[in-house]
Amino acid sequence: MQLIMYRTPSLAGSVTAGRHLLYRELVRLCRTLGNTVGALIVGLLLASPTTLAAGATHNVLVLYANGRLLPANIAGDRGLLEGFEARPDRPVTLATEFLDQTRFSGEDYERTFVTYLSEKYAALPPDVIIAGATEALDFMLRHRAELFPRTPIVHMSVTSAYLQSVSPLPDDVFGTPLTYDFVGTVEQALRWHPTASRLALVTGTNPWDREWEATLRARVADLRSGLALDFMAGLPAGELQQRLRNLPEDTIVFTPGFFRDGTGREFTPREAGRMIAAASSAPVYTIFSSFLGTGIVGGRMANYDEMGRMGARTALALIDGTPPAAMKLPATTPTPLQVDWRQLQRWGISPQAVPAGAIVHFREPTLWQAYRNQVLIGSAVMLLQAGLIVALLFERRRRRRTVAALARSEQHMRLAARAASLSTWVLEDDTADPTGRERGASKFDVATGPLVDFRENLAQIAPQDRPGVDAALRDALDSNGEFEIEYRIAAPDGGWRWHAARGRADSGQAPRLLGVAIDITERKLAEIQAEQDRAALYHMTRVSLLGQLSASIAHQLNQPLASILGNAEAAQKMLEREPVDVPELREICADIVAEDHRAAQVIRRLGVLFKRGDPLFEPLDINELVRDTIEFTRSILTTRHVNVVTNFAPSLPPVSGDRVQLQQLVLNLIVNASDAMAALPEHERVLTIETGCRTDAVSLCVKDRGPGVAPIAMNKLFEPFWSTKPGGMGMGLAVCRSIAEAHRGSLTVSDAPGGGAEFCTLLPVRNVG
Ligand code: ADP
Repeated sequence: MQLIMYRTPSLAGSVTAGRHLLYRELVRLCRTLGNTVGALIVGLLLASPTTLAAGATHNVLVLYANGRLLPANIAGDRGLLEGFEARPDRPVTLATEFLDQTRFSGEDYERTFVTYLSEKYAALPPDVIIAGATEALDFMLRHRAELFPRTPIVHMSVTSAYLQSVSPLPDDVFGTPLTYDFVGTVEQALRWHPTASRLALVTGTNPWDREWEATLRARVADLRSGLALDFMAGLPAGELQQRLRNLPEDTIVFTPGFFRDGTGREFTPREAGRMIAAASSAPVYTIFSSFLGTGIVGGRMANYDEMGRMGARTALALIDGTPPAAMKLPATTPTPLQVDWRQLQRWGISPQAVPAGAIVHFREPTLWQAYRNQVLIGSAVMLLQAGLIVALLFERRRRRRTVAALARSEQHMRLAARAASLSTWVLEDDTADPTGRERGASKFDVATGPLVDFRENLAQIAPQDRPGVDAALRDALDSNGEFEIEYRIAAPDGGWRWHAARGRADSGQAPRLLGVAIDITERKLAEIQAEQDRAALYHMTRVSLLGQLSASIAHQLNQPLASILGNAEAAQKMLEREPVDVPELREICADIVAEDHRAAQVIRRLGVLFKRGDPLFEPLDINELVRDTIEFTRSILTTRHVNVVTNFAPSLPPVSGDRVQLQQLVLNLIVNASDAMAALPEHERVLTIETGCRTDAVSLCVKDRGPGVAPIAMNKLFEPFWSTKPGGMGMGLAVCRSIAEAHRGSLTVSDAPGGGAEFCTLLPVRNVG
């Protein structure tokens, strides 16, 4: 309950100085009334000011026992600032004073300082006072009544020995006592230096130093027995350094530092510590964290920064009005073992010997820690380089293999080209003229020799083949595609050689064509010869066919000739009679002319069939062609008593064909069919001709009722010179099939459904496009 008494003034004080005093009075009233009742009254009365005070700035006065530059003060101050800055919701105004008691002391000085403080802070009294170090708290406690009697005090870095000496402390004085762990420090040092048999203790001459000397003399009793002690108290710095340099082996040194040496020279304990560590031939230990970095090994020491932070937290808790119990102040200030890593190295103390939880300062980073990034980058670069080298080696090996494979392949190709009399050529062209006639560089590589200029080659092409060659090359270049051409080239003997070239456009940077050419003169001549032979064969079979039809032809000619003769004789007789019947005579003449035309037409048809010449492809109506052919064979069919039945598909699409050749084909099939039915009774001799339309083709089928074709003969039928007829040539069907194939069609035989044979030819429909 007492806490409320302190909470109130701290809040009130932040409002105004006047209100501050009023709250003080209220607090006093509470004390007289008793804690419980007081707490209630203050709580009720101050509910509103508390709210008003929230967020206002509070005054905190820090009083340090020593001077401003004492490292312990600097560290403590730093901790205080950090602690206050951690609470931006509780802004405080810090005022700091330094008693500097190691240099200034005495009654007059203290009086002056009290006056100074009371006058300075009269208008702006502190809400909380923080006393840094024992002498500061002692000063505040002694002069509290004159200064700020009701302002709570937070102490830090105050020894528990002092606190015990002034016990009991007033209720509004808070803090965590500090016990310098001299014994713990020396014991740790002895663990690290197990052979140490001597302890040197260094102190100075001013009162604080003397007090430390006294403390140490008292505390050494707690150390293990058998340790030789060497008190170097109040020595002049020079002598001290000398003695420290010549310390016997197996000595360890302990010092709290000092403010003044034997000559009266002033030091800060930290400076003294630095000097001692520098001179000492033995490891030096202390209990002040501010000495770390001066060359001392370490010790169990409180952290001044942490003490500052703790002081700030306690002050803020008071401002917040936190009850003391809830503040959870530690019973003592922690004094963890702290060491300088470099000194551990220097004195050969293994890092493993440092207990867990110890704070190690100045740990020198390992090479890895210090140069981690450089090492990583360096390694990465090296790895990258190694990778690059491997890749390059691999690439070189691959390239060598490729080159070797290419050479092999080229050799094979040359061999193959030589064997096939092939020549390879490249036509490089940077102009629009694919033939390279104007500017393009072109090369013709005869497989057995060097590349030659292809332009010369092109220039030798037969004029009639040149447009076709140019067009094919240009198309290939334009479409980036392939080409295949045959052309004639002027031979040195004045004749022509046939060449076939095949190639493709190479989609490189510049347009060019790659290809091979081969001399095909022999093949071409053979083809031409074969074509001529075929034409001759066609002609021969046609003539032989016409031989068979001679009776029919004679019959067809006889009829008009007989009619002409009869009419001519009748005309003669009429002319002998008077008067001449002119109209009758005219009619007779007209008949003669008509019959003569008929005879002429028969002869013309025959002439066409007998004619020998190159095939001429034209659009043909197959129905009409079949009708015409039947006319030819009419008399032979009549003589042989063969009935013809036609079944024509209406409006057939035209086919592209040679009229004479296709007539020959139909003629042959009709004659064969009538031959096949020769042995049948007359009324059974029926020949059926059908035309039809299939997908993209016209069909023409000739069907008879003869004995049909034996299975064994089915494959042989179309072979040349295969005949079952006495005196038969066996060329008819072979010629028919080659005619069909020359028209990109086919000719097949099958058994007719009602018996007999059925020959069908399929001819592709003429492609109009
Ligand atoms: P040729 O008529 O001179 O024998 P073809 O090549 O025209 O020569 O005919 C070859 C053979 O095919 C004939 O000898 C005959 O045996 C057979 N053949 C042809 N047409 C028919 C058919 N319509 N019926 C049965 N066999 C046929």
